[in-house]
Amino acid sequence: MAEKRDYYEVLGVSKTATAEELKKAYRKKAIQYHPDRNPDNPEAEAKFKEAAEAYEVLSDENKRARYDKYGHAGLDDQGGFGGGGFGGGMSMEDIFSQFGDIFGGAFGGAFSGGFGGGGRVTRRGGDLRVRVKVTLKDVMNGVEKTVKLKRNEACSECNGTGSADGQTTTCQTCGGKGVVYRVQRTIMGQMRTQSYCPDCNGEGQIVKNKCKCCGGSGVVQKEATVKFKIPAGVQDGMSLRVPGGGNAAGRGGEKGNLIVQIEEEQDPDLFRDNDDLIYNALIPLPMAVCGGKVEVPMVDGKKCEVKIEPGTTHGKLLRVKGKGLPRLNSYGCGDLLVYVSVFIPKDLSKDEKKEMEKLMDSDGFKPKASDYEESKKMMVKMFRG
Ligand SMILES: [Zn+2]
Ligand SMILES: [Zn+2]
Repeated sequence: MAEKRDYYEVLGVSKTATAEELKKAYRKKAIQYHPDRNPDNPEAEAKFKEAAEAYEVLSDENKRARYDKYGHAGLDDQGGFGGGGFGGGMSMEDIFSQFGDIFGGAFGGAFSGGFGGGGRVTRRGGDLRVRVKVTLKDVMNGVEKTVKLKRNEACSECNGTGSADGQTTTCQTCGGKGVVYRVQRTIMGQMRTQSYCPDCNGEGQIVKNKCKCCGGSGVVQKEATVKFKIPAGVQDGMSLRVPGGGNAAGRGGEKGNLIVQIEEEQDPDLFRDNDDLIYNALIPLPMAVCGGKVEVPMVDGKKCEVKIEPGTTHGKLLRVKGKGLPRLNSYGCGDLLVYVSVFIPKDLSKDEKKEMEKLMDSDGFKPKASDYEESKKMMVKMFRG
């Protein structure tokens, strides 16, 4: 792939451009290089896609921050996504689906309406969705998953052509181009819009003698096994795209995508807060007073020893740097947070109670003036934030 241009340069804006400035700049480029204005011009189409990709990244706060920090490398490294949403992976369909935001109703309609409502330029098979369960261990290390699903695949009888004898005839309506043109008036002046030829569905060819096996569609439903990698650091509810993992379109169309939705299983011991892991450590009262240690069961099966200092109060949060989960598409890890809960027993034996009562009157157990101050400060912090 050719060296990528700087996204700010592509849109012709400064690195400090506001969201509004970005939108304006993108709108200008999109109009200039729009396929409707530049039919059969691959150079314009490339520029159109380049601008859309730049805008897709810079209009997203997270992606922009990553791009500012690491450049294209910060975005391309998508692990198993196979290029994911950017890195040249944007289809025309993706681009047109953004137009609603950029141009508002009227403009968006004028543009995408030209492509047969679906906003498509090339015919593509439908996307398929699967839900995949991951454990915290999978999130920690990344994981390869295999799913079985039913999807449309090219018919082996006709090699995906849909024709029983391999013969097709040129569509009379569009002369084989697959598209029909019409002139439309829009706010931007007169525009030539194109839409799919209704007679051949944009294929330019018509199958006379249909394949018996697939009924002329070129595809049949089959059971398929799809393997893909889930990168470390994913979160519940995220979607990954496996390009080409969806339905085949048949008769020369592109394959759709497989959309993988991440479902995270609750770990028995650790809670998750973004990249941090939280562990609730219930410790006996004497340990809070005298100090000790707790062992945190980590996702890799190992234990992480955390020291409890003498005089640790209930509700204290201990932070172990870098022992959390890896950050998605970034560097480093979150932290392990150990929340200290002091266990106050209710069922003590007579002897145990006696010991405690002795301590109640002993000097070291009585709060001093400074302790009252500190306690008050804690309370204020709790209620006022
Ligand atoms: Zn046609
Ligand atoms: Zn067939």
